[in-house]
Amino acid sequence: MKNKRFAIVLDTRRCIDCKACTVACKAENDVPLGSENYRNWVGEEKLRGRYPNLGQSYTPSQCQHCGNAPCAHVCPTGATEINPDGIVHVVEEKCIGCKYCMTACPYNARYYNEEIEAVDKCTFCTQRVYTGRVPACV
Ligand code: SF4
Ligand code: SF4
Ligand code: SF4
Repeated sequence: MKNKRFAIVLDTRRCIDCKACTVACKAENDVPLGSENYRNWVGEEKLRGRYPNLGQSYTPSQCQHCGNAPCAHVCPTGATEINPDGIVHVVEEKCIGCKYCMTACPYNARYYNEEIEAVDKCTFCTQRVYTGRVPACV
């Protein structure tokens, strides 16, 4: 479909920090084990209010697939590409591991994958959404 763009809506009011989304992402996408390696995460806000009226909120997040992606602009080899459907992805074979993109990303959404010797991040589960399925984290 022309001008089709993918989007994920996160309703932070419903997040309970169970981290099922991060487990699902790791399993679906063979993200290496270890706390340094992740494509999505759950941000935590400090407790607010006074006992007994306390509250806490969580913010699940991942690569924002930025329209004007700084990670793509700084890449010296063109390894980071922006698809016409808005999905930002890394071409492993072109990545030289300079990590400029990791520094440029304001969301800290990238990590270096030792197993593939390239930078990695959320791919929007293209293997799923291009075949009509929702992303694993959803
Ligand atoms: S890696 Fe960072 S800068 Fe690049 S598209 Fe994702 S959120 Fe934006
Ligand atoms: S680490 Fe790879 S994707 Fe990132 S800027 Fe360098 S070559 Fe590009
Ligand atoms: S869309 Fe896919 S790759 Fe991106 S965070 Fe969700 S499960 Fe991981």
